[in-house]
Amino acid sequence: MSASSISEIVVSKKQGLYIGNEWVGAAAYDEIKLPYDGSIVGYAAHAEDSDVDRAVAAASDGARSMAALANHERADLLLRIAEEVRRDQAELAQIICSESGKPIKEARIEASRSANTLVAAAHEARQLHGEVVPMDFTPGGERRMAMTVREPLGVIGAITPFNFPLNLTLHKLAPALAGGNAVVHKPAERTPLSALRLAEIVTRAGAAKGAYNVITGNGPALADRMLRPPDLAMMTFTGSVRVGESIRAKAGLKRVTLELGNNSAAIIEPDGDLSTAIARTVQGAFSHSGQVCVSVQRVFVHESIVDTYLEGLVAATKKLRVGHPYEPSTDISSLIDEAAAIRVESWIREATDSGARLLCGGTRRFATLEPAILADVPTSARISCEEVFGPVVAVYRYQQLDDAIAQVNSTPYGLQAGIFTSNLNRAFTVARKLQFGGVMINDVPAFRMDHMPYGGMKHSGFGREGPRYAIEEMTDLKLICWKTD
Ligand code: NAD
Repeated sequence: MSASSISEIVVSKKQGLYIGNEWVGAAAYDEIKLPYDGSIVGYAAHAEDSDVDRAVAAASDGARSMAALANHERADLLLRIAEEVRRDQAELAQIICSESGKPIKEARIEASRSANTLVAAAHEARQLHGEVVPMDFTPGGERRMAMTVREPLGVIGAITPFNFPLNLTLHKLAPALAGGNAVVHKPAERTPLSALRLAEIVTRAGAAKGAYNVITGNGPALADRMLRPPDLAMMTFTGSVRVGESIRAKAGLKRVTLELGNNSAAIIEPDGDLSTAIARTVQGAFSHSGQVCVSVQRVFVHESIVDTYLEGLVAATKKLRVGHPYEPSTDISSLIDEAAAIRVESWIREATDSGARLLCGGTRRFATLEPAILADVPTSARISCEEVFGPVVAVYRYQQLDDAIAQVNSTPYGLQAGIFTSNLNRAFTVARKLQFGGVMINDVPAFRMDHMPYGGMKHSGFGREGPRYAIEEMTDLKLICWKTD
């Protein structure tokens, strides 16, 4: 399919906000642009405070309807949404690609994963249950029995980032519905089109009125309003640490889960599979131009193999095709906007000015940056310390494994990390020492299956996603205790 025909398909009309299963018009609209060249691919309504209140009211009705459904009915609803997502997969991939600028082949993977997320949530919805509690654990509990049940929270607010506009939305919506809740969702300003299309799909699949509401527009203003009404029981946020902190500070007694950033690291031991490590680094560092929360940013390689590793990494990286995201052969396309590319370019310059070697890439054209490999980066450089969220990987050499572990841990972040070694004992010892929410053995940190527990330690946030775990966050545990004679 040519670039122009994709563009024709995805340019949406000025549909508005999606509240109570219908479109609601707005006084003003924002243009949504293809990050690669700035061409317009759609429009999103600019919501007002009153729209937020209206969405929360609609969701309160939606939450009552969702809570009244049996487990199997919620499961069936999620399976019907999954079926619709699969049916519209090609179109959804085009929308994801157009608004986020990720290459179409990656957008297709995201669309397909989105259906998996829904199926996993359906599976969990069907078997939502509590447990029997042994009350006679200590004296005083004799002749008492207790059980727990899980109950919906009600209305859940969801705020999502730009990088996975459909699947990260579903990582909030699917478990929320599975647990019997309704959602008011504010997608990222630049990527609201996938969520708006999803809202139609959810209605088509038979969701109750108000089960899923989408408001678009100015992030900070809408988030402030969402956090105000007392009806919102929880805010689930995915995005940067800066915004996560501000949401938490404003949330009061609302439940909050935060899925935040990382500057992910991998360790490569001399007995690790070097060719796999190279292939996985290229994939993990440069997929979606490094705009993935677990993107490989720092790689610690034993000094005995670092030169071979770098040689292979540079050769494999140079084979990547940089270009228009609509082209099926494109591996790397633009960042989310030109400002992001300029920022990443300046971080590369800061590293090279302080002694790092740029082994390839780093050249920028508008919002597109050629994938860059840096070696000998000082530990004080921003690339070593902060989250770059761009197509840059920094490679460090080490002599002692404990030093590499200390370096990997020397970050405020804690989402995922990886280690390559064929020594099982060593792998598990390292896995226990790494202070991250997930550790990948014989892989880079940029690995996620949609049903697995996923979330961070330290500044990478708290709470876990993956439907089974998110449902726990999105439901209340109630104890029912009875006394027998
Ligand atoms: P961002 O924090 O700038 O924006 C995320 C969302 O917050 C958007 O919807 C935005 O409109 C909204 N927002 C912006 N300012 C706000 C404010 N003051 N109050 C409330 N909401 C506000 O993040 P981004 O640039 O869209 O995404 C990149 C970040 O997301 C990276 O740090 C990345 O690591 C993180 N991320 C984390 C995960 C994870 O699962 N841990 C997944 C994807 C992305």
